[in-house]
Amino acid sequence: MKSSKRSKKIKLTKKAKIFGSIIIIGIVLCSLTFIHSNKNLEVEVHEIEEEKNYTLKIDYPEIENKNINDKVTKHIQQHKDEFLKMAEKLDQVTETKLDLSITYTLEDLFNYKALHLTIYSFTGGAHYNKEIKSYYFNKENGEEVNITNFLEQNASLEDLSNLAYYYTLDYYKQANKEYDEEWIKEGTSAKIENFSHFDITEDGLKLLFPHYQVGPYSDGEIEITIPEEKLKGIIKKEYLSIEEEPITFPNSPKRDLSEFQNKKLLAFTFDDGPSNGPTNKLLDNLDKYNARVTFFVLGSRVNTYNNTLKRAYEMGNLIGSHTYSHLNLFKLGDYDIMKEINSTNDAIENILGIRPDKLRAPYGNTNEHIRNLSNMYSILWDIDTEDWRYKDAEKIKENIVSHAHDGAIILLHDIYETSVEGALLAMEELQNEYAFVTIDEMIELKGITLDKTKSYFNF
Ligand code: ZN
Repeated sequence: MKSSKRSKKIKLTKKAKIFGSIIIIGIVLCSLTFIHSNKNLEVEVHEIEEEKNYTLKIDYPEIENKNINDKVTKHIQQHKDEFLKMAEKLDQVTETKLDLSITYTLEDLFNYKALHLTIYSFTGGAHYNKEIKSYYFNKENGEEVNITNFLEQNASLEDLSNLAYYYTLDYYKQANKEYDEEWIKEGTSAKIENFSHFDITEDGLKLLFPHYQVGPYSDGEIEITIPEEKLKGIIKKEYLSIEEEPITFPNSPKRDLSEFQNKKLLAFTFDDGPSNGPTNKLLDNLDKYNARVTFFVLGSRVNTYNNTLKRAYEMGNLIGSHTYSHLNLFKLGDYDIMKEINSTNDAIENILGIRPDKLRAPYGNTNEHIRNLSNMYSILWDIDTEDWRYKDAEKIKENIVSHAHDGAIILLHDIYETSVEGALLAMEELQNEYAFVTIDEMIELKGITLDKTKSYFNF
């Protein structure tokens, strides 16, 4: 066992030796503490200096892996050099006693180790300067890793950044503190260095933001936790302790699309539902036309009409989000926009076990900023039936038939009987020429790779 072969190494500089007994007692005390608290540590380095104008106390581990060790010692040396230079410079002009203190923690993180150095330096002014430097490395081969090594293969740093932004806003909201959206957005943007300090616990992913990362110095260091259940599909499964859902969720069968390959395609989409009467009437008749459609549902209605939602999904229709409360997203702050979107996805996931990835913003009010916040695919329309205005099945049918073209997306609302009747009449008329498919089926048939930064009006 490596841990039984512990030894310790103490580096004493000439100057420190002169300061004799007090320091030696200090060293002994320090060493003893660390022997008990770091079981896997082989060698630890202590440096202590006490001069009339400064004090310096540095503790760090000597890591077996040379690569990491070099980085650590180099980083510490840089701080020390800078500090000593400052001490020398200030010697003549100030009475202030400068101080440099470096401590560390070394933790296990699955098959990795995390080394956190905390560097406090006081070189005058109002407060200590604090820097935290974290190193993550593989226990076996010492290879240095970062947050991206913990991400699922299909997840991106953008996905994580999106969650981090939301939960940082949430932190400030909960604490009733003022915040600066822009500052937080920048401090949680998809850059590896924004995720330099993290830990994965059974509560979720903990992120530490040092001073100034997401707010002014007075906000202090901020630690947020992204709950574990939100990390599914983002952090690798082996690092999460989520148990498999005991509830069985409904299945949504995939259709064999080969029969549609030579047909023109139409995507009927229905917003503002689900509802009892109209939605079910539509579902009752889809098989007649070999049709499947897309529902952009409101999160606020999902629980009330959960049976209809399940039925639609189990038939192979596509479920997308139309936000929770149908608000104009242009009039909301980032936190409320994300809340409208996240709470809808949560509500749908609770019933269907899936999180939708298609979003239709109410009134089509979306822009690059909202698309970016939503982290979903934005689907709009190019045939507006204005069904809510006419409430006339014949007129709605005419609108669809006269504008139909291959790849069109038709906007309807499954809260009006007349809209459903109009849609069915149009299917009756167009069925020889067109196949009626969901947005996902259309994308697949047309071989399109979607882009989250765009809005789609047709395919
Ligand atoms: Zn709507």
